[in-house]
Amino acid sequence: MAPSEAVAPAIEVRSPADGRLIATVPSLDATAVAALAARGREAQPAWAGLGFEGRAKVLSAMQRWLLENAERVIETIASETGKTYEDAQLLELGYTVSALSFWSRRAAGYLADRRSVVRAPLLAGRRVITRHSPRGLVGVIGPWNYPLLNSFGDAIPALMAGNSVLLKPSELTPLTSLLVAEALRECGLPEGVFAVATGAGETGAALIAVVDFVMFTGSTATGRRVAAAAAASLTPFALELGGKDALIVLEGAPLERAANVAAYYGMINAGQSCVSIERVYAQASIYDELLEKIVAKVTALRVGAPAGPASVEVGAITSAAQLELIEAHIADALAKGARVAVGGHRRPGEGRFFEPTVLVDVDHGMRCMMEETFGPTLPVMAVADADEAVALVNDSPLGLGAAVFAADSERGEAIARRLDVGAVCVNDAAVNYFVLQAPMGGHKQSGIGVRHGAEGIRKYCSSQTIVISPRLMLRREPQFYPYTRGSAKLVRRLLNTLYRR
Ligand code: NDP
Repeated sequence: MAPSEAVAPAIEVRSPADGRLIATVPSLDATAVAALAARGREAQPAWAGLGFEGRAKVLSAMQRWLLENAERVIETIASETGKTYEDAQLLELGYTVSALSFWSRRAAGYLADRRSVVRAPLLAGRRVITRHSPRGLVGVIGPWNYPLLNSFGDAIPALMAGNSVLLKPSELTPLTSLLVAEALRECGLPEGVFAVATGAGETGAALIAVVDFVMFTGSTATGRRVAAAAAASLTPFALELGGKDALIVLEGAPLERAANVAAYYGMINAGQSCVSIERVYAQASIYDELLEKIVAKVTALRVGAPAGPASVEVGAITSAAQLELIEAHIADALAKGARVAVGGHRRPGEGRFFEPTVLVDVDHGMRCMMEETFGPTLPVMAVADADEAVALVNDSPLGLGAAVFAADSERGEAIARRLDVGAVCVNDAAVNYFVLQAPMGGHKQSGIGVRHGAEGIRKYCSSQTIVISPRLMLRREPQFYPYTRGSAKLVRRLLNTLYRR
């Protein structure tokens, strides 16, 4: 990106763990975004022309680059997000290398021409080809919680499909995306095929106006604005939005594992994951035992500025606004009768940290049970039985994911089928995000469209149907002009013969 493209004000990137200034990046205006888009469009046909094998070579090189430069990648992610070494390594790096491997191998199969012969009697004998061609320029707008996994992760299938990509990272976490751009260049990606438009919301809005598809990950509130902007230009889009994922634990479930899952997937990335566990419903008969286990595990967590492997389990809260929202949810719950079993406060001193927190005596009149908190908080509520748990999980405007622990897997699966969410993990939580062959997306206000699976790459393509009728056919078919009584009768007779059963 040429310095001349930068327009004031530049964006200061600060470490959430200690407030230090890490870097300054330009904030691109609409003209600069349009220039990047033009370069992306220019470069795209040659990139598509490389074919799946040629593109896979570049992305496989990127896969190796990420592992060879793992420490630098982890350090960059950790510096701008304040997350732990482990969360950066497993979730960000781990997901991304597995996604590079998956899409490099599977894109060709998902996007291959599909050929068939029509069997419908009135069209019998026609051949049909369904094909998928790259849309051209895909715009990816990403959030701050997973700058590698969420932003570049969504660019990978778009690139493998033969598109150029223009990525707008969160203004809080642009450095990982800039590192990715540098790495892709080193790995042989042709100039212009992948570009990063640093900036705030206005830069994202400018991007929507110049791309052929928008892949947005972020909050439900911004998602609405993105959808409205995309509607104005009829630009297709997919939205991966907020979550309020619940964990149901019923009698007979393995409580030790359920408590570990609650603590880990509730606090992972300091709770700043769209698919983190945000609420727990425990059957009354096992509530006390489960709660005791969860509280013990959460109490043992170390929170603070990450300093390499095994230094802390819970890192910083990346965004200042998020920290205020977490506090507001706790205050609201306490004012309405909830109690803190452990945690409950922002850490005083340098950096943005919030104590891993378990809330009890909670109900659906509280914000912490109804709105996304996106912090290291775990409200635990007792329920009479599975029916009540299902009703409470579904009593939400959000429907991203859920987790179920029951006496056996069959019962878990039966409960999963009753939940109005995009994915359910039985005897587990959140792992569906790593199951790349399965679609991942939210119900209700958690999103529109999916990532992963066949649909996760076909959305980056325009589909085209080609119907080929036999070369030698009747010169005039009965339905052609001129309309006659005889042909109308013939058509009626045909319809009756074929379909009147
Ligand atoms: P935001 O919605 O605040 O921002 C997301 C991105 O959109 C940022 O890059 C932001 O820029 C940009 N943006 C802001 N305004 C506009 C606009 N008008 N037009 C276009 N782009 C705009 O989300 P957060 O960054 O706060 O991320 C947290 C949210 O992301 C949570 O709700 C979480 O649940 C959700 N999420 C969902 C996932 C899923 O798969 N469903 C996965 C991960 C997170 P800037 O930051 O510079 O203002």
